[in-house]
Amino acid sequence: MATLDSLTWLSRFVSETPGDSEVGGRSRQVPNACWSRVLPTPSIDPQLQLWSSEMGQMLGIEKGGAETLGGGVPISGMDPYAQRYGGHQFGNWAGQLGDGRAITLGEAESKDGVVELQLKGAGKTPYSRFADGKAVLRSSIREFLCSEAMHHLGVPTTRALSLVTTGEDVLRDIMYDGNPAHEPGAIVCRVAPSFIRFGSFQIHSATSDIDTLRSLVEHTVHTHFPTHSLDDDAGRIAWLSQIAEDTALMVSHWMRVGFVHGVMNTDNMSIHGLTIDYGPYGWLEDYNPGWTPNTTDSSTRRYRYGQQPQIAAWNLARLLESMVPLMEDPELLHNVLTAYTDAFDAHHNRMWAEKLGLGTFIPADESLIRDLNALLQEVETDMTIFFRLLSSIQTPDVSELSHAFYDEQAIPVEPWNSWLERWWVRVDSKPNRSIMTNANPKYVLRNWMAQLAIDAAHMGDYSVCERLHQLLKNPYAEQQEHEEEWFQKRPEWARSKVGCSMLSCSS
Ligand code: AMP
Ligand code: MG
Repeated sequence: MATLDSLTWLSRFVSETPGDSEVGGRSRQVPNACWSRVLPTPSIDPQLQLWSSEMGQMLGIEKGGAETLGGGVPISGMDPYAQRYGGHQFGNWAGQLGDGRAITLGEAESKDGVVELQLKGAGKTPYSRFADGKAVLRSSIREFLCSEAMHHLGVPTTRALSLVTTGEDVLRDIMYDGNPAHEPGAIVCRVAPSFIRFGSFQIHSATSDIDTLRSLVEHTVHTHFPTHSLDDDAGRIAWLSQIAEDTALMVSHWMRVGFVHGVMNTDNMSIHGLTIDYGPYGWLEDYNPGWTPNTTDSSTRRYRYGQQPQIAAWNLARLLESMVPLMEDPELLHNVLTAYTDAFDAHHNRMWAEKLGLGTFIPADESLIRDLNALLQEVETDMTIFFRLLSSIQTPDVSELSHAFYDEQAIPVEPWNSWLERWWVRVDSKPNRSIMTNANPKYVLRNWMAQLAIDAAHMGDYSVCERLHQLLKNPYAEQQEHEEEWFQKRPEWARSKVGCSMLSCSS
């Protein structure tokens, strides 16, 4: 089989959009540009630790390439660059951000079409500001495992090809509390049709650079949305509605599986409706819509689980504002928000119908779902285990679900049994079990599972990473042999441990 060297490399983004005339990673403002040419910084001792054989197969390459994937001399045909973008962070316009520690190697032909290969953590770029452009092992493992797991859960996401340790330590203050420590550095090679974000458009609109905005829009539509046209407002609205619908689908999947992104800033919103930029994300364990894993967001909990659909709409509104200069009648942009809401509602209803095995959703199901949501919050209840056990329940009796509750003595038995009775009547004693088991995963990358993998990797042992990578390739399968270890509620040690219940943007 071939290696990275034998891929056919393209540079569509760099050749079709305006770029920076200066080359290299000197930190700077880069007006009127979509990208800056910059080479990755080679690792001292690149070691290939994790590899996605599926991504390798998609690219048609065999495992290997630690040098290049660790930031070494690029292969001929690659034209590495960092992308320039802006964004709203926690509701405020933050100006130029850009790829501060991501460097695209190039675009390569694959069995799934052309994809962009990007190294995360390969050194400084013009957009690094005061930071080092590096990534630590713990956050790289979290990105590698979670993006692959999300794919197998059926959630639209960027993918990961490899994780290389750099042999170099990186200084990080994990909880921003004045206790910096050295941690091993790593580089993930991630893969997507592109890493264009909402903020990629916003930066040009915010700086009144309409020519660059238009050029980026033309490149994006022509390359990634070829069935759309930009000939008139109707074409532009249809394209943007596609982005809205893709975003709605992504967020409704997050809600279905209990994923909390943690930093839904507009620079972390993919134009393809893919989950992107795995940072302080987390998985709901007890069903608390107010939960966010991100300690940086603990005061307002802007990016909490239950608010993700509204935040996606807010982010979309910022993208739409940036398109105003290209519209003859900007009022039409409101239609795109309606497209988002309609798409989200439809997906949301369908997914609840699937989670509960209802068949077709009917309006009367709304109260059933609302009451379920309230009951799930009465006492500490594990979301994943609850829905999984519900998929195979034989009688409408909460005792069959007891494994989902943290304190079996505290289960509100009466209210639960009366809700289960209502549901049982609704499904005529025959919930659609195969649809339920395909909507309610048995295994997700719980925060403490990722932490166990990280702790072992810090000791040089990647076997837990490997086991989780394998387990999470079939999240809807029973895999009974793994039940005792991984079909479990959060252990007590993980309740208030950094990395499990508390994460920061420090990565
Ligand atoms: P994030 O919230 O992780 O998506 O990052 C927000 C911005 O900070 C992006 O422009 C990143 O490229 C940049 N950034 C984050 N970490 C680093 C780092 N270690 N070095 C340079 N830039 C960084
Ligand atoms: Mg980001």
